[in-house]
Amino acid sequence: MSNFDQNQINNHQINSRLWSNVVKNLNPYTPGEQPKHADLCKLNTNENPFAPSPKVVEAITQALSNQANDLRLYPAPESDALRETLADVYQLDKNQIFVGNGSDEVLAHIFACFFVKNLPILTPDIGYSFYPVYANTFGVNLQKIALKQDFSLDINDYNQPNSGIIFANPNAPTGILLSLEKIKQLLKNNQNSVVVVDEAYIDFAENPSSAIGLIHEFDNLIVSQTFSKSRSLAGLRVGMAFANPSLIEALNRYKNSFNSYPLDRLAQVGATASLQDHAYFQDCCKQVIALRQDLVKNLMMLGFHVLPSQANFVFAKPPSYCGETKQLFERLRNQGVITRHFDSAKITDYLRITVGTQAQNQRLINALQEILNNP
Ligand SMILES: *Cc1c(COP(=O)(O)O)cnc(C)c1O
Repeated sequence: MSNFDQNQINNHQINSRLWSNVVKNLNPYTPGEQPKHADLCKLNTNENPFAPSPKVVEAITQALSNQANDLRLYPAPESDALRETLADVYQLDKNQIFVGNGSDEVLAHIFACFFVKNLPILTPDIGYSFYPVYANTFGVNLQKIALKQDFSLDINDYNQPNSGIIFANPNAPTGILLSLEKIKQLLKNNQNSVVVVDEAYIDFAENPSSAIGLIHEFDNLIVSQTFSKSRSLAGLRVGMAFANPSLIEALNRYKNSFNSYPLDRLAQVGATASLQDHAYFQDCCKQVIALRQDLVKNLMMLGFHVLPSQANFVFAKPPSYCGETKQLFERLRNQGVITRHFDSAKITDYLRITVGTQAQNQRLINALQEILNNP
């Protein structure tokens, strides 16, 4: 859309006369800014700073040159080849795997399939801000449970009657990881509700921490993951869920009542190629982890309080003498460094900073240094 068209729309009064009440009551998610300006240091939406595996580009290019004619045809509705490769990589059966157009779509289906029930679902008060949006979209009663003072999750707060529990692990935007032992106990305490562990950032944990292995033991567990962060493919839109075949079948029923072909041919080919280049993936994660450790050290040297992160971002509170974090955020932005600030009481003092390349992180640290020197 040209700027002109956009202005025409913006200047035009939106008229909701023909809207349904469903649309009137929606409360849409606001994604982080995707600026057009190339010179900006973009540390605001937790994308991977490194390019995807060259094998991904190769596979997509090849699919286009050899089989462009195939674009006439619908893609594999159940993404069989991709799911088979996922099954290989994660040592699972294909029928324990569901894929969707980004894990956001997978999560939306999860809300529709398992959470539209009488009892509320429970989620931490500080967490991924799409959960309340889905709850509103699907008419789910969502109850927020306060995290502890140090932003950790106490599983004992989740023993009240519920039809589901959902949280990100590592949590967003804190980056804090909940141990597998505690997840196991949570699953034991809630055997009649669906427990969703959103592992969008799990590949950046220093030690293997995924709950995928627990799906054999707990038929009420769903683990979701994405190609957007650790596999550098946010633009391809591929996400997945791992669970017992009965839960996966529910997701399939829903998918096939909504959109039979959520993944296009290129996305299926590209995601499969990404899984096949395991060495590249591992190396990329290792580098991001090392860059995170460096970034944390440098922020602490500037006097920041940094939460212990196992994700590809850090959640950090500036030293108190530099005033409101929101202003710091804006001053950084004026210098071309974009981070994320949340206008929510408990976390208003914090900045969420995506781990960038060495050069990007240095640019952030330099900008912060200058701001702190002129508070
Ligand atoms: C980024 C993110 C997602 C969404 O991932 P997509 O696969 O890009 O839709 C889901 N959950 C959390 C916690 C995230 O940060």
